[in-house]
Amino acid sequence: MSDYTGVREALRHESPLWRIEHLDITCDGCLCEPIIGARFKCTVCEDIDLCGACMRALVAARLKMAQEGAAMPGLPRRQGQRPRKWVAKLHSRDLTEKWAALQTAVPCLHPSHQFQKVVDGPERAVVFLADGQPASGNIATGGCSSQPAAAAGAAGPQQQDEQQEEQQASQEVQAERGRCAVNGSSRGINGGSSSSSSALGEFLSTFRPSAASCRDVAWIIVAHPEPSSEQPSSSSSGSGNGSASAGLSLEQRVDAAVEEWELKVQQAAFGPGRRLTAADVDALAAKHRILKGKWMLFARSGAEADAAWAAVAKAVCAEPRLCDSAKVSSAGPEADGSWVLCVYTENYHDSEDVQRVCRGLQRALRGGLLQDRRLLYKPDVYTHLGIYSKNQWQLKPTVFEARLL
Ligand SMILES: [Zn+2]
Ligand SMILES: [Zn+2]
Repeated sequence: MSDYTGVREALRHESPLWRIEHLDITCDGCLCEPIIGARFKCTVCEDIDLCGACMRALVAARLKMAQEGAAMPGLPRRQGQRPRKWVAKLHSRDLTEKWAALQTAVPCLHPSHQFQKVVDGPERAVVFLADGQPASGNIATGGCSSQPAAAAGAAGPQQQDEQQEEQQASQEVQAERGRCAVNGSSRGINGGSSSSSSALGEFLSTFRPSAASCRDVAWIIVAHPEPSSEQPSSSSSGSGNGSASAGLSLEQRVDAAVEEWELKVQQAAFGPGRRLTAADVDALAAKHRILKGKWMLFARSGAEADAAWAAVAKAVCAEPRLCDSAKVSSAGPEADGSWVLCVYTENYHDSEDVQRVCRGLQRALRGGLLQDRRLLYKPDVYTHLGIYSKNQWQLKPTVFEARLL
């Protein structure tokens, strides 16, 4: 397959338009999640990963230790501790202090760990950043919402106007969150409009779902960057328990939700007449802020997948955007030969927003782009709790259904 080598070639070089992400994989050195760019996995342990920066630091540390003839003690793994300035302490003259710092920071220093670069696998995704910095760097980007003060100072008068405009607009339309600073007309002036759409075009033609092999990237994604500081969702109805999960990562919230769910399952098993219902799942989702969900669409051929994905990706990147992100599986001929498209919404309890995205998809995919007309909506929380279509509680993970027009 010649297009297969095209994908490999594209992945070999860094691009300002897209990047590799390892979905749901946390670096055991710096705790970043997901790992972006290079990922190194221990081939001895079951679940130890490092990002590129930590791997470089580890190599440097091992080298330095070897040069200084220091013994490598066995290291206890300390969970949940965020490393601070440990890299600086690498240069300490005191070997004991040095190792203490490293032990705190990096659970992976023991020489028995064998790290290997990950070049495939189900977590590996290529991500197009819808508001990303264009290659030339001289075009005002749609850095959504949070413009650093320095950038505002450096911007020309016209861009400042745009920012003021945006501030006004965002005050007026609170609901329209995450709107891009650069609107259509100003992009035209800067020549950014054609640039950004051609960037998407280049991405779509390089990473076609029919062409990208599962072995290299499991998912192709278009996404708007997330706001830098995650606000507890004010629209999560009921519960009022947001403070309990404030500041926790998604992983931590999922762990807490799973724990609570397992407890409920036990109670239901031994308690009299208590059945677990969708309301139980909804309450957990609200309490732990696991509210994302996705519309799923299905393509039966590579040509269908390519066409439908291009239409969806353009809708996500358009202004106003359909939603924050979407992905398509890159199942090749060696897999089961079908493709799934997932179009995300932020909060599945916000059924109005869920339906808005549904209508957008019906518009974007009209004209019979997909033979399979099903539109199925599944909240992420069901996946996190391990509730699949055939489960003992007869819960239905698909909470909304629609059809393409
Ligand atoms: Zn790291
Ligand atoms: Zn290991």
